[in-house]
Amino acid sequence: MNRIGLFPGSFDPLTNGHVDTVERAAKLFDKVIVAVATNTTKKALFSSGEKMQLINEALQHVPTVEVIEHTGGLTVDLAGEVGASALIRGLRTVKDFEYEASIAAMNRSQHAEIETIFLVASEQYRFLSSSMIKEVAMFGGNVSTLVPSNVNKAIIEKFK
Ligand code: ADP
Repeated sequence: MNRIGLFPGSFDPLTNGHVDTVERAAKLFDKVIVAVATNTTKKALFSSGEKMQLINEALQHVPTVEVIEHTGGLTVDLAGEVGASALIRGLRTVKDFEYEASIAAMNRSQHAEIETIFLVASEQYRFLSSSMIKEVAMFGGNVSTLVPSNVNKAIIEKFK
């Protein structure tokens, strides 16, 4: 059976925490589709196209990954459209859990056959978020150990 997992998110930008989650999910699924959300806020740093290119480059070592754009509609509907049996989400803190549990329940009400699988963030990435990366980078901080090298280069370019 060809098991597909859909990993949706903003990925603005992709961090080492996201990469870790994808690498681990790739061991559970035959194919992992990363669905990149179209930016809904003006605070976005990268366009969807830029994010997709960065993710494709950074995940080249995981051949079963595919990157698509999520332009609108319910994520769980997208999961159904691409044939995914599960949504993959990362859990860092209790705060993540509370938010994610309610979304998972709502998604189940829409498509009971699509499960949500939570991967607990690896210890070293527990406190890593895209928003913190953006804040630190905006003030000239060094995020090179927290994001893939191509993302680091792109961030430096943005704030030049
Ligand atoms: P969203 O806006 O959908 O939360 P994000 O790009 O912030 O988009 O996160 C996408 C997914 O990756 C979420 O499930 C989130 O919990 C997970 N994630 C974010 N940061 C990390 C991290 N440091 N370690 C593991 N998972 C993470």
